[in-house]
Amino acid sequence: MEDRIHALVREKLLVATGRVFIRADYVSAIGYAKLRMALEDAGVLGEATSPQDGTLCARCGETRGAHKEAACTFAPLRYVSLASEAGKTTYNAAENSQGHLIRYLIETEKRGA
Ligand SMILES: [Zn+2]
Repeated sequence: MEDRIHALVREKLLVATGRVFIRADYVSAIGYAKLRMALEDAGVLGEATSPQDGTLCARCGETRGAHKEAACTFAPLRYVSLASEAGKTTYNAAENSQGHLIRYLIETEKRGA
């Protein structure tokens, strides 16, 4: 049976387009490790992981294994933590306006007061 986090990933995160910022309030309720696992189970990669056949394409949503390269240039769907300076820079870059380089930026703890 699918758990709540996997259901949220499937119903809310995978259907989102463009860039998605996931706030600490949400992450702290479920746990960063659990969220990462659910994203990775769904075919979303971390910052430096190599694509596998089950990795989703950020452009068309197809898995790499079933991807039609003639119609779309495969771009692995990725998340990064807000703690990653390089990841944050890429997430905010103009080339990433559609989330094709990094779709999800995850804030893992509240900052400031
Ligand atoms: Zn594609």
